[in-house]
Amino acid sequence: MARNLVDAARQLALSFGEPSTSQTPASRPGGRMARLNGEFVEYTLRRSKRKTIGLLIDDRGLVISAPKWVPQAEIDSTLQQRADWIARKLIDWREHAARREQLAIRWEPGASLPFLGARLNLRVDPAHKGSPRVDGSDLILALPPGAGSEQIRDSVQSWLQKQARAHFGPRIEHFAELLGTRPSRWSLSSARTRWGSCNADGSIRLNWRLMHFPPDIIDYVIAHELAHLRELNHGDGFWQTVGELFPDYQRVRGMLREYTDDISIS
Ligand SMILES: [Zn+2]
Repeated sequence: MARNLVDAARQLALSFGEPSTSQTPASRPGGRMARLNGEFVEYTLRRSKRKTIGLLIDDRGLVISAPKWVPQAEIDSTLQQRADWIARKLIDWREHAARREQLAIRWEPGASLPFLGARLNLRVDPAHKGSPRVDGSDLILALPPGAGSEQIRDSVQSWLQKQARAHFGPRIEHFAELLGTRPSRWSLSSARTRWGSCNADGSIRLNWRLMHFPPDIIDYVIAHELAHLRELNHGDGFWQTVGELFPDYQRVRGMLREYTDDISIS
């Protein structure tokens, strides 16, 4: 079951930046109700060949798998025993879904783009020439009227990559100065599952999608990767170095986890 939760969680994380429509939580048919700690909870019962009762919670809710011979009374009492755990997991998933909703980007005019912790509205302007331009809280795209979502996405993403290069460079310089060492080189990555990485050859990679996040989170990821230039591990010495570069790292690390607790930095 843990495996299933992790896999489902990973799928959520991977949906970051993609339209959420295909991943909208769907309810399962054949729902039943249980009253747990005074709350009505819908669940699906699956009769299976397994030998014990199993509980699974994912974005579609609670599923109970039970052998055919187990009576309903035993299922009910298992639910009561695990009521706290079930409640906690359901809340986790609800929060997860809300965060995903917040981060999902619709590639269409009028949609909102998370950028450095704020929001930009996508606006298509055929009269505009050249690369996208920020105008107040709008991001103006030089695209023909009726541009498709792919065109909009490509235009915005290449703009984001350009912004990432401009934003990351000085921040790397800032932390390199504090550390007294600089990376041999750095580059952008678009890995789906990694925000940043540091190589044994002293090069670092940073995910341009970090540009969706507040500057503090970006700083933390950069400080984290630069600290690996001194300690290529996650031992005490490493975290001490991170703390020297970015004293507030624990709070911000928590923030990053809240945004996407399944995508790692290494
Ligand atoms: Zn690391």
